[in-house]
Amino acid sequence: MAPARPPIGPASVLSAPRRLLARVRDVMAGAAPAQERLDDIVKIIAADMVAEVCSVYVRRGGDVLELFATQGLEPSAVHKTRLQFGEGIIGDVAQKARAFALADAQQHPNFVYRPETGEEIYHSMMGVPVLRAGRVAGVIAVQNRTQRHYTEEEIETLQTVAMVLAELIAGGELIDHTEILAEELAAARPVRIEGIGLNGGLGVGHAVLHITDLPVADLVADDPDAERCRLHQAFSEMHGSLDELLADDALAEGGEHRDVLETYRLIAEDAGWLTRIEDAIETGLTAEAAVQRVQNDIRARMAKVTDSYLRERVHDLDDLARRLMLHLMGGTGMALAKDLPEHAILIARSMGPAELLDYDHDRLAALVLEEGSPASHVAIIARALNLPVVGRARDIIQQVDAGDLVVVDADNNQVFVRPGDDVLTAFEEGVRHAEDQRERYEELIDQSTETKDGVRIELWINAGLMIDMKHLTEWNADGIGLFRTEIAFMARSKLLGVDEQTRLYKRIMDQADGKPVVFRTLDIGGDKVLPHWGGADGQNPAMGWRAIRVSLDRPALMRQQLRALIRGAGGRELDVMFPMVAEVAEFEAARELLDVELARERANGRTLPAAVRAGVMLEVPSLAFQLPTLLERVDFLSVGSNDLGQFLFAQDRGDARLADRYDMLSPIVLKFLSGIVAECDVRSVPLSLCGEMASRPLEAMALLGLGFRRISLSPSAMGPVKSMIRELDVMALAKQLPDLLVGPEHSVRDRLREIARSQRIHI
Ligand code: PEP
Ligand code: MG
Repeated sequence: MAPARPPIGPASVLSAPRRLLARVRDVMAGAAPAQERLDDIVKIIAADMVAEVCSVYVRRGGDVLELFATQGLEPSAVHKTRLQFGEGIIGDVAQKARAFALADAQQHPNFVYRPETGEEIYHSMMGVPVLRAGRVAGVIAVQNRTQRHYTEEEIETLQTVAMVLAELIAGGELIDHTEILAEELAAARPVRIEGIGLNGGLGVGHAVLHITDLPVADLVADDPDAERCRLHQAFSEMHGSLDELLADDALAEGGEHRDVLETYRLIAEDAGWLTRIEDAIETGLTAEAAVQRVQNDIRARMAKVTDSYLRERVHDLDDLARRLMLHLMGGTGMALAKDLPEHAILIARSMGPAELLDYDHDRLAALVLEEGSPASHVAIIARALNLPVVGRARDIIQQVDAGDLVVVDADNNQVFVRPGDDVLTAFEEGVRHAEDQRERYEELIDQSTETKDGVRIELWINAGLMIDMKHLTEWNADGIGLFRTEIAFMARSKLLGVDEQTRLYKRIMDQADGKPVVFRTLDIGGDKVLPHWGGADGQNPAMGWRAIRVSLDRPALMRQQLRALIRGAGGRELDVMFPMVAEVAEFEAARELLDVELARERANGRTLPAAVRAGVMLEVPSLAFQLPTLLERVDFLSVGSNDLGQFLFAQDRGDARLADRYDMLSPIVLKFLSGIVAECDVRSVPLSLCGEMASRPLEAMALLGLGFRRISLSPSAMGPVKSMIRELDVMALAKQLPDLLVGPEHSVRDRLREIARSQRIHI
């Protein structure tokens, strides 16, 4: 049921912000040139907000803000005063894309005095960014002589006006014609941007910018009543879909699960949130613009909050705001991700794995991120999709426009925006070379996976999507060494019930056609955020409530998954692996849940798997100190080097700034791993490594030298790693390795490369 509507006042009595917005909009709609309209607007704002000064700065090329209109400052400063992003308080507003209100701006360390403006007599200042499509298009500021304390409402009013002003700036009329031409010419220059290759390969196509905020076409509305109606309608539709989620059969069995969704619905019903959106409508915004305004505001205010409960609420509200927007837009928003041109190059600041899966990957040629690191989940999914990815491409969003031609050369850590003919020719050569290499690798498929000195190595594949399964037969691999079950959950807008999971796991095993598939139970939390679960929370989500910790605290969730795995296996053998186990007791608790489910299925007369093997991922270093006890209890062990690296070095795997700070080919890691190999050998427990380390030929070579005989890789790494294996004399390498484990070096990468060269291995 939709919440009751608040009483609406007489239409003629306009609230103060709405009156201002209506006047600004009238001027905007006028026929006068844009500069004149802007001059009028600053006067209206200054009068309405009782400010002695109102100024608008417009962004120009080279991150410069130019004073375009002012009421109160020296008129001669217009089109003369220019500030760089980050320079002065105005520059700070632009750089941080955040509003500032200062009672005594002159005391602020960032204050810069521009004599031509005559602003020395003004003490207080409030500035807000003018944002359009996520970019700063300018800054609007008001100033007063007194040390005025601007209220929250005043900041909000100015932000609302800024949303409207963005349209005037975007109209392109404000910058004179010759300059526009010059800007366009400058913008059309080819640019080369360096980054790091997160998944190798080459891609060429046209840029598509990934926008997290859905674009709102109409900002201003005449009839707040009608907008409120639309809001209530969308609100009850959203409730309907949450109710559907709650009515899901599978959830009816899982008490805790229901609790989470109920909480979600309670947030959606939070009268405070709805009231704030209605207040924003009252200022003259459309329902969509009002949702966005309130959400921007909540995000800005909460940016510095560290309390995990509050942060989780912001994340929930973000998700709900997006859902509400989609209902308001009648579902057209979803089409954004689906309506891709052929050969799209997706450009984003950062991106979650679920967001990448929202796109039609058949149309994607490459992905470029301003952030991102090799072990982040979006990179892992991109690898599964065989999508070239360059991460840490600094400021690419500022330098590329939608539709620009872009060449992504992830093998050489670079991106070319609007490339010249020379780059395009080289690119074509690169593509030919990659084709040749692929043909060479394909010739290896039918050859044995044995080292030059005759040691058989098992090559398994990492998977998480149904489309990965084809690689198992394509490469004739030994099995799926890691099936990341959470990826299917990330791709859906709601949790999967037992029946849906059963069907999925059965299809995967059917596809594996008798080869083993190691199903990892849900590894959610950390960088693996489910759209319907809330999200990363706590101050250190990677070390927080995630993976096995969630599963043990919400046993219904894990029991449903284990039930689905048992049913999916039918009479076949089943391999189950638990992630992020930090101590033996956690494995035992998980194993007990597995046994409970097996007993339940037996009691219900269902077919049980022919055999059940339960193992753990070794990715939390503490577990290594309980190895002898652990190895008596598990059927297999698999090292998760992505998380292991992050915990060994206390290095956030998703932090781009740390991506190459530590090296997995350090004596520390190799020594640690050699201890695990020795313990598993003594107790004959099957050991593998399924982190990204196994997917890089030099790292994989080191692992084999340490004694690993089974590794699980990204499908795209099969060719290069298999080629390395067939050229390797592993026993000779094993003799050289002990020396490399004891040195003081940051990394033994170069020494390993030297060994590879001496053995004539092509890496
Ligand atoms: C790992 O941590 O190495 C691993 C394989 O798991 P994930 O990358 O899914 O955390
Ligand atoms: Mg892991």
